[in-house]
Amino acid sequence: MNEQRPLIVLIEDEPPIRRFLHTALGDAFRLAEAEAGLPGLKLIAREKPDLVILDLGLPDLDGVSLIRQLREWSSVPVIVLSARDQERDKVAALDAGADDYLVKPFGVEELLARLRVALRHGSRVADAPAATELSLGELHIDLFRRQVRKAGEPVHLTPIEYKLLTQLAKHAGRVLTHRQLLKEVWGPSHVEDAHYLRIYMGQLRHKLEDDPARPRYLLTELGVGYRLAVES
Ligand code: CA
Repeated sequence: MNEQRPLIVLIEDEPPIRRFLHTALGDAFRLAEAEAGLPGLKLIAREKPDLVILDLGLPDLDGVSLIRQLREWSSVPVIVLSARDQERDKVAALDAGADDYLVKPFGVEELLARLRVALRHGSRVADAPAATELSLGELHIDLFRRQVRKAGEPVHLTPIEYKLLTQLAKHAGRVLTHRQLLKEVWGPSHVEDAHYLRIYMGQLRHKLEDDPARPRYLLTELGVGYRLAVES
């Protein structure tokens, strides 16, 4: 029965963080550990884990190049751990294909919530198409019928607003970087046009949130991007 527990490869050079993760995850997950990037890549290739937790500050290889290498042969979900002063690395890691991030120090609840979302997306990629309907509080998004309702009432969205919302909905619970959203919604030539995103996100919040200044659904990840809440 123990073998049914998902396997996580943990790549982290700091023993206190490894001990913390062992305590937090040991009951529900199996853990395989590496203290540096290259042994970590080998471990992933050998063990084919369900998820990877990767520290960005490693002694031998920076986390961003590790993710680039990994993404050449694996789509395993990756959650990166970053220190407060690694803001740019964190965004680069997400743009390179990491699924989410946690800033140290983080709590167990936050960690488990991120793991649940990443594992759900991971298993979806492997075995089944994504859900086409999503309900969040008063909000209902139907990707198949291209309909958005709030408290049962249809909400009219412009094509750009709809495209932006569907990107977030397809990855509900996961952070998407400014660059990823700009590329998907406006195209690769607009990845630097962050002001587009601010304007359209403001419009979406105006239409979907009770209080656009205190959003419940369309959450800002400061300096990184946006995330659609999974529960509210
Ligand atoms: Ca480190």
